[in-house]
Amino acid sequence: SDNTTPATTVHSTQSGRSLAEIRQDFPILARQVHGKPFIYLDSTASSQKPTAVLTAMNEYYHQHNANVHRGVYLVSEEATAGMEKARVKIARFINARQSKQIIFTRNTTESINLVAHTWGSANISSGDLIILTEMEHHSNLVPWQLLAQRTGARLEFVPVTDDGLLQLDVYADLLRQQPKLVAFTHMSNVLGTINPIHEMIAQAHAAGAITMVDAAQSVPHLPVDVQALDADFLCFSAHKMLGPTGIGVLYGKKALLEAMPPFMGGGDMIRTVKLRESTWNDLPWKFEAGTPAIAEAIGFGAAIDYLNALGMDNVRQHEREITSYALDALKAVPGLTIYGPEADQRGGVVSFTLADIHPHDLASILDQEVGVAIRAGHHCAQPLMERYDLAATARASFYIYTSKEEIDILVQGLQKAQHIFR
Ligand code: PLP
Repeated sequence: SDNTTPATTVHSTQSGRSLAEIRQDFPILARQVHGKPFIYLDSTASSQKPTAVLTAMNEYYHQHNANVHRGVYLVSEEATAGMEKARVKIARFINARQSKQIIFTRNTTESINLVAHTWGSANISSGDLIILTEMEHHSNLVPWQLLAQRTGARLEFVPVTDDGLLQLDVYADLLRQQPKLVAFTHMSNVLGTINPIHEMIAQAHAAGAITMVDAAQSVPHLPVDVQALDADFLCFSAHKMLGPTGIGVLYGKKALLEAMPPFMGGGDMIRTVKLRESTWNDLPWKFEAGTPAIAEAIGFGAAIDYLNALGMDNVRQHEREITSYALDALKAVPGLTIYGPEADQRGGVVSFTLADIHPHDLASILDQEVGVAIRAGHHCAQPLMERYDLAATARASFYIYTSKEEIDILVQGLQKAQHIFR
């Protein structure tokens, strides 16, 4: 058999810890699927969770469970402190000036919808221009389409080159039309492209526009500093960065957040309520209606601790190494086409097709034959698929626990698939 050894050989170290040690922090990586070691190459969709995150959430429910912000008793104060401590950790992680600029949402999708509804309704009107790109995830596309439908705003799109890069000359041209808002992804979840967002934000500001950065794929994988970037809004999801599902972040500049009307109404987001009108709570709670995801916030905080202990430069370095290795290994598979830029311009994600084998068939063969989990489909980026004349691609993606042996087994699985379909 070609797949009997668990992939634990030490190749690189992150913060002095070997890959084998890091992998031991992720209990799911020890399981088997179809009688083979489980190889998880779908971290772009959602990452696995280390024991430290699971333990933090478990301990919250065992020892500190109560509703937050309302209690005048010890355990509720502990729950509140746990959640607010997580907010501070997240603020430091992206170098936000103040933790009140960190709004907890359910995920990136909700963060973008929040801005489209509140900032959008207050600032966008008929004829206004919003610039997006062709490589956006549906969650950074559809909320702006809905806003445009509500208000009569116009949408324009920065096209993508054959190599998977944004056409920045077209972006510069579009900026001359004085957009109100520019929204783009920091890193593509399909092509892996890391966009030059520092320059793009500066150009947008020079044109008088507000910027929204979809950082769902960048904050988990590379150092991100919102002050250095001068981002106006930036959002990401815990579940893609070792944390639980059900919690995400909207970061915003304070003046923008303060000027925005609330998103959802209910408990926690108010200061005073009368039968016919209410006043709003301070940031960040103005945007956090109802009982929040408390255990999830605490788990998110533990995920941040884990990433900080590794160091985000090390996280990026490991993924660079794995991605170059994967690109080289995949290029050697006959009939395989890779989409997106060269290794130095991309994060840890590789989309590909193999001859005329349907990506869904490829994904099920890899699962059954070699225990490799990859994603197949349009990856919530249908316009990008259309740009490349594709219905679907297969996508392998990597994180801090991915090893070169796992890439080797992916390649063996692809060779098997070719044999089966010959
Ligand atoms: N934006 C990008 C680039 C993504 O990759 C994803 C998730 O795949 C999202 C947004 C949406 O994230 P969520 O489903 O957590 O809201």
